Amino acid sequence: MSKILIIEDEEAIADLEKDYLELSGFEVEIAYQGNDGLKRGLEEEFDLIILDLMLPEVDGFEICRQIRDKKNTPIIMVSAKKDDIDKIRGLGLGADDYMTKPFSPSELVARVKAHLARYERLIGSGMPENDIIEIRGIKIDKTARRVWVNGEEKNFTTKEFDLLTFLAQNPNHVFTKDELFRKIWDMESVGDIATVTVHIKKIREKIEMNTAKPQYIETIWGVGYRFKI
Ligand code: CA
Repeated sequence: MSKILIIEDEEAIADLEKDYLELSGFEVEIAYQGNDGLKRGLEEEFDLIILDLMLPEVDGFEICRQIRDKKNTPIIMVSAKKDDIDKIRGLGLGADDYMTKPFSPSELVARVKAHLARYERLIGSGMPENDIIEIRGIKIDKTARRVWVNGEEKNFTTKEFDLLTFLAQNPNHVFTKDELFRKIWDMESVGDIATVTVHIKKIREKIEMNTAKPQYIETIWGVGYRFKI
């Protein structure tokens, strides 16, 4: 079930949005204050965030900027003023969509569904399948589940193979450890994401010339990993 965070100080609006999203099968949490919303958006895992612009303490601009700095979670920004929406677009804060209040709850639900579907595609599930992936010296045969590094075949465990392949077919995209854990292990697992770190280390030992200076799987400190092209 997709989990959504609403950051909105007007309780009546937040509660209404929550009701409609829950009726559509989403799990919804509300942060009524900017600071709380920012903290939870950064520290907890949500599939999408609905962010009001005008909030006491920290405003939506700042929250969007800080979350986007660290995470790829889709963000729909909401404002009562059309002018603000233009301003948000102009600032290039990385929000995925914008809505002007008042909007109909069904429109909100439709947009949420569209962004979740788009994000799912982005992180790989709907990408066109290609049996052979070749990036610089690495060749992955997905059907045969074999990997060559500079022409030399290397052996990978099932999960190492799945993780390497997933990263390689979504190059330059930064994934959090939590996203990787949910993707490669069990979607429902309440995870031991340290597993991800251990597997990345094993993969690097097989593909990197110098594991201290990885050329393929790069660590983005405080965020996660990406496969560099
Ligand atoms: Ca507000």
